[in-house]
This record gives sequence, structure tokens and C-alpha cells, in this order.
Amino acid sequence: MARYTDEQCRICRREGQKLFLKGSRCYSDKCSISRRNYAPGQHGQKRAKLSEYGTQLREKQKTKSYYGVGEKQFRGYFEMASNKKGITGENLLQILESRLDNVVYRLGFGASRAQARQLVNHGQFAVNGQKVDIPSYLVKAGDVITVRENKKDNGAIKANIEVNSARPVPAWLELNNENLSGKVIRLASREDVDIPVEEHLIVELYSK
Ligand code: SF4
Repeated sequence: MARYTDEQCRICRREGQKLFLKGSRCYSDKCSISRRNYAPGQHGQKRAKLSEYGTQLREKQKTKSYYGVGEKQFRGYFEMASNKKGITGENLLQILESRLDNVVYRLGFGASRAQARQLVNHGQFAVNGQKVDIPSYLVKAGDVITVRENKKDNGAIKANIEVNSARPVPAWLELNNENLSGKVIRLASREDVDIPVEEHLIVELYSK
């Protein structure tokens, strides 16, 4: 487990940015980026200048890591985004933000997206009263996400809510701490997405 969590920090260090892959540690001074903001490995302190392709590729890899999505699924989201009206890059981010594991994380029920994904997988949540255990489920405006009645004593979720209370809930979501639920007021717009990504580079990469 320790090896796995260190690997999360290595991803951030390779990208030179905080990607918030590890829960509360990411918000503390123990964050590896705060302490060693250079790439891992022997030559990590000399950042190589990337080619145009390399820059586009890094942007895609970073975004995949941020949302914890594999290549095939990410490509599928890109196709979905291209087929929607509007700006493809912004559509892509909106789709990624709409994943149930991301929404659970954004509401503060999960310490990280990885933990939120695990909680969803374990059947802790319902959408509009129906159990949903698929992390990639895409929410819609008006959906209500609740911790299922028989899971409301889950210690991890309660602890997360307390620890994450300082983390702001984005404007497109509404949290109800009392009954452990959240509502999707509207889908996320570009301004709502705080990920440090230049999504047009991903579009350029896939459009080659
Ligand atoms: Fe590690 Fe910091 Fe990245 Fe969190 S934000 S995964 S603590 S390097």
C-alpha cells in the first residue's frame, strides 16, 4: 500500500503539479510537491524541454491521472465530447467531472477520487434512490446522490465529511450534510473546473 501511495506522489512530481491524488496529505505540508518539486529519478532535477507532441501527451496523461481514468475510457470520453455541441475540450472536462466517483469526491464523501471510486464500487451510494455501484456512471442535472440508508454509519464517509469540511463544494453541486446527500444543480462549466490543464492540447493530440 505504501508503495502504491508513493507512486501517486511520483505522478504529481513528474507533472510538476499537485494533482490531489492522496486525500488529506495533499492539503498538508507533507505533500511531496511542497517538499520536492522536481521529477522523480536520478535526473529529475533537470526538466527536459518537451516537444509539441510531448507537451500534448503530458497534458493528456496528467488529466487521466487526475481523474483516474484509463486510456480506452478516456478516448471514449473524447469521442463523446467531440460529438456534443460546444467546445470539445470543455465538453471533455464536463464529462469527466460528471463521473459519479468525481462527484462523490467533490461533495467531500471521499478523501480522494481513488477512495471515492472504492466507496462507489462497494455500493455505498444511491442516485435518485437507486443503488449505483459504477464509478463511471455519469450524473445529470437534478440527480440526487445519497449515502444509502444502511451505509450511513460508514466511519470512513463520516470522517471524510469532517476532514473535508474546509474543502469548498463546487457551485454546480449542493451538499446536504444533515442527510448525507448532494444534488447536481447543473453540470460543471469550465470555470467550475480547477484542474490545472490546458484541454486544447488534448484535443490537438487526438486530432492529429
Ligand atoms: Fe502526493 Fe502532493 Fe500529489 Fe497529493 S498532491 S498525491 S500529497 S504529491
